[in-house]
Amino acid sequence: MSKLPVHEYFHSWQGEGLHMGRSACFIRLFGCPLHCPWCDSAGTWHPDYVPDKVERLESEELVRWASSKKPEFVVITGGEPAIHDLTDLTRQLHETGLPVHLETSGAFALKGEFDWITLSPKRAQAALPEVIAKASEQKWIIESPQDLDYWWQQLESQLSTPTVWLHPEWSKRRDPQILTAISEWIKAKGAPFRAGWQLHKLFRADELDPGIAKPAPLGGNPELGY
Ligand code: SF4
Repeated sequence: MSKLPVHEYFHSWQGEGLHMGRSACFIRLFGCPLHCPWCDSAGTWHPDYVPDKVERLESEELVRWASSKKPEFVVITGGEPAIHDLTDLTRQLHETGLPVHLETSGAFALKGEFDWITLSPKRAQAALPEVIAKASEQKWIIESPQDLDYWWQQLESQLSTPTVWLHPEWSKRRDPQILTAISEWIKAKGAPFRAGWQLHKLFRADELDPGIAKPAPLGGNPELGY
């Protein structure tokens, strides 16, 4: 019987990637050692925003909750979910017939069985080749126009996924420099690149579920906001 530290769990819909718009239950686990300066789940690791108490829940409880919502799939996210052993949770979700999606930086070996893996590599720690090879899609967060060249140099020879989403870092989602750089990149390179967005935030869809945690500012920086 395994217990996992859970920051929040809620029923919403997937706002990103190839499964955008589909009903999904999200299990956001606690903890991430990478500390990206613009992290949009800073509450899962930032010392100023760590909640007083982090619940440790048994897989059975999470699976019971997820199946009661009848989503199309479950997304295990974080923080960095791959720092935890997800073998028991993913096995039990599969036993109830729920497909399991994972959102990861790829920097840690995966423990569990996943039907869909979204790899969002981070500069702080390189993604492992075996996780890159398993990824179903990639998502690059573009904080400055130079990020496009950086990730291209890092990952060009390993672009095995059919889709690489280019997401403006959320605090720069209206920055014309970033948006133009992404647009020009896609026009120049075509596939596998596609422009991405976090559509659920425009709808404030996650906030409709009482299970969400108190939001922390982006990267724990009140200037940037959520
Ligand atoms: S963006 Fe992802 S990898 Fe970076 S600190 Fe946040 S949870 Fe960790």
